[in-house]
Amino acid sequence: MKILAVSDEVVERLYSLCNNGHFRDVRLILGCGDLPYPYLENLITILNVPLLYVPGNHDPEYAPQNTMTRAEGGSNLDLKLIRHKNLSIAGFGGSIHYRPDGTNQYTQSEAYLRAVRLLPLFAWNRIRHGRALDILITHSPPFGIHDEDTRAHQGLKAINWLIRVARPRLHLHGHVHFHRGNLTASDTSLGTTRIVNVFPYKVLDVDE
Ligand SMILES: [Zn+2]
Repeated sequence: MKILAVSDEVVERLYSLCNNGHFRDVRLILGCGDLPYPYLENLITILNVPLLYVPGNHDPEYAPQNTMTRAEGGSNLDLKLIRHKNLSIAGFGGSIHYRPDGTNQYTQSEAYLRAVRLLPLFAWNRIRHGRALDILITHSPPFGIHDEDTRAHQGLKAINWLIRVARPRLHLHGHVHFHRGNLTASDTSLGTTRIVNVFPYKVLDVDE
């Protein structure tokens, strides 16, 4: 199945690429956070495929207390696991805590406390489908992989832990932007998991 993954930056050119049939084979959109919801909603409308997303720490309309504030037509996958076709997909939003008034930002310990909430879902999935997870989408990168030394862009250790526990085939994240020379890699393997920084978009082919 072809997947269009997006994060962090609106790419206006995607609209014309969509209209020109460039993403004709795409069957699912995955959002890794920090995007205006109208952008996600436009992509849903143009491609006419489902959207699963996690909120980042800069989602303009995101308010954790207000469930009405969401990308219309999409499903917020934060701390959820769903079955889509033959794929199990789980989500983990937010980033490292780096500002006192930051929204959807967590210390390393707080992130672990959130991550454990996915454990029963992995266990249940393993019983029902023989494996815990196929795809993990997060906003933050894991710690030490595609992250940066700056406080705002340090990865979350809880995500490394989720990857070790659930062993998804694919992990997609955003949050870390490319600018000249700051990153050396955006596609890395950890065990059997392929880890991809999707900033600002990637098209991926995943076996169902
Ligand atoms: Zn971010």
